Amino acid sequence: MVDTHTHLHFHQFDLDREDILRSFEKDGISFVINVGVNLEDSKRALELAEKFENVFVAVGVHPHDSKDAPEDLEKKLREFAFSERVVAVGETGLDFYRNLSPREIQVEIFERHLSIAQELNLPVIVHVREAYKEAHEILKKFPGMRGVVHSFSANYTWARKFLDLGFHLGVGGPITYPKNEELRDVVRKVGLDFLLLETDCPFLPPQPFRGKRNEPRYLKFVLEEVSKLTGFPPVVVDEVTTENAKRLFGKVSR
Ligand SMILES: [Zn+2]
Repeated sequence: MVDTHTHLHFHQFDLDREDILRSFEKDGISFVINVGVNLEDSKRALELAEKFENVFVAVGVHPHDSKDAPEDLEKKLREFAFSERVVAVGETGLDFYRNLSPREIQVEIFERHLSIAQELNLPVIVHVREAYKEAHEILKKFPGMRGVVHSFSANYTWARKFLDLGFHLGVGGPITYPKNEELRDVVRKVGLDFLLLETDCPFLPPQPFRGKRNEPRYLKFVLEEVSKLTGFPPVVVDEVTTENAKRLFGKVSR
């Protein structure tokens, strides 16, 4: 399996980070995309990727942090992209649920991430919460852009619109939550094409571990649910979603 969205450099993993990374093989994880949420944090995310060969990295400023994005954002992202370990720009996007940064600043910083991703020919990892319409409007202005709407949380109509733009959908722990029939409906209808598995660890653990810290090894609960919903055996879900991840994060050399 490929865990396409982790934050393994976060403090929640300070006590056992290396143990987790060293048990990837045992846990069936071939590699992870470790995601930064601001530039300082992206640097820490990258340091981890430079130490462990099955960790790749996305660099960017989360919509929550966009009010603190530096003037020279583009320059900083270009510098990061010199590293072979950097395979995506993000996470970036719009969060109109928590609104931790003003909406107009979120929009501006999102568009600047998309421009730089285009220039660097990298895919984008997009965070969207209660802003699917606005995010779709913006992505439409960047034809040919590749990426993933991570932790997708809207209905099938919206899923289709993002797939039609050539985007992938990331699904994680929430697909196992009893009340989340909407997301299960999306996966039933979408199938495996353009689907990616992710944990978003330390957040969003699958149902059996709710309230606890999430980890890459719990990705198998997501895989099992996707298998049930699509009717494909777990081994096929693994194979197809792994290929999807390799195709999207093309610099990943395996
Ligand atoms: Zn995240």
